[in-house]
Amino acid sequence: MIDRLIKGRHTITMSLWLPYTQMQTVLPPLNVVRTNGCYLSLDDGKQLIDAVASWWTACHGYNHPYIIESITDQAHTLPHVMLGGLVHPQAKKLANRLCSLLPASLTKVFFSESGSVAVEIAMKMALQYWMNLNIFSKTQFVCFEHGYHGDTFYTMSVCDPDEGMHRLFHPVLPKQHYQVLPTSDDLLEAFEQTLKDYAHTLAGCLLEPLVQGAGGMKMHAPETIDAIVSLCRKYNVLVIMDEIFTGFGRTGSLFAFQQSNSTPDILCLSKALTGGMLPLAVTIASDTIFNAFLSDDPDKALMHGTTFMGNALGCAAANASLDLFENEPRLEQVAVIETALTGALIPLKDVPGVKDVRVKGAIGAVQCETFSTPILNWFKSEFIKNGIWCRPFGDIVYTTPAFTIAPHQLAHITDSIITLVQQWSSQFYRK
Ligand SMILES: *Cc1c(COP(=O)(O)O)cnc(C)c1O
Repeated sequence: MIDRLIKGRHTITMSLWLPYTQMQTVLPPLNVVRTNGCYLSLDDGKQLIDAVASWWTACHGYNHPYIIESITDQAHTLPHVMLGGLVHPQAKKLANRLCSLLPASLTKVFFSESGSVAVEIAMKMALQYWMNLNIFSKTQFVCFEHGYHGDTFYTMSVCDPDEGMHRLFHPVLPKQHYQVLPTSDDLLEAFEQTLKDYAHTLAGCLLEPLVQGAGGMKMHAPETIDAIVSLCRKYNVLVIMDEIFTGFGRTGSLFAFQQSNSTPDILCLSKALTGGMLPLAVTIASDTIFNAFLSDDPDKALMHGTTFMGNALGCAAANASLDLFENEPRLEQVAVIETALTGALIPLKDVPGVKDVRVKGAIGAVQCETFSTPILNWFKSEFIKNGIWCRPFGDIVYTTPAFTIAPHQLAHITDSIITLVQQWSSQFYRK
């Protein structure tokens, strides 16, 4: 059976075209008919513990009754209005609340519906910031190896150009400056040299603080954030922090950059913003950025606006999610998860074929020698047999569970990761 899954070709009889998927060799996708807590229920009655929390969005678990209630009330009152010329209480409340949770310099919230678009908007803001100051040479960005900032055209240009999934498009993408994340003195020197050489062309620098997520769960120290930010300030390069993955507790603090001494000029949030319930994203700008758009000249306005920006259902879900962060011990739960993941996964470092094991907050990643597609499929099917939804990619087996996961559920995930990595090492890994 597994052999067939691994080697076989599949004709999938449905009209869906799946993301990041070679449709010719894809395993038949699972049919989820219900979610609850940390569980996915399938159409065959099977229940899986979700180790991924739907791309790490469902931080309170699925179907949290408090968020559902809030969305339901909102649907009866005001599901959506355009944000052009109109505002509504949920959007105003959410914007105020986000700013109150952030350093005083971050004061203006621009809404959109997806992380990629939030980063697009951040880049557009940075470019126009300089143009509005009559500086027209600052049109490029500096970004980092293993970075991931989205799938739209401009964000593709700031993803890792080699390992990223957008390599194919590089000939048609704007050229940016790719740097190794400066985690040592030598690398910092190289980073500073780039800033020095290209400062006149650089609008901004994009960074996923503490953890580079989709690029392979790469982790760095808060000091690296501080070093990058202070050099960017020195050379007049705006700092855009992409906390679409790390935001809302995932790394142990509400926002990852709060573990450093630095503040971004522009901050992007999405994913867990609504507790994983609805698509919503924000680009939050500092006063300095915002003020550069204030003018008698209409052309200096930010010419951006997506149809469903500030969607009231999404904002209601996000406000409810923030209530849960206030009223339930989410960050404490993340600390407990971090301890459990550390205890369970770090010993895998000694397994042949395992290159590194990393834990930060509610993120646990086991990095191995790169997996082939059949091996990735083998992992997925074995996890499913164990009652777990876990989706390794590249060279990584990882878990990013809901913060509300029960200790025995988390132990079931880590036990399976341990068993399967050991099994992979002894059966498939050849030195
Ligand atoms: C997921 C992600 C994005 C893109 O968000 P989408 O909602 O998928 O467009 C951008 N940056 C980071 C760090 C992400 O994790």
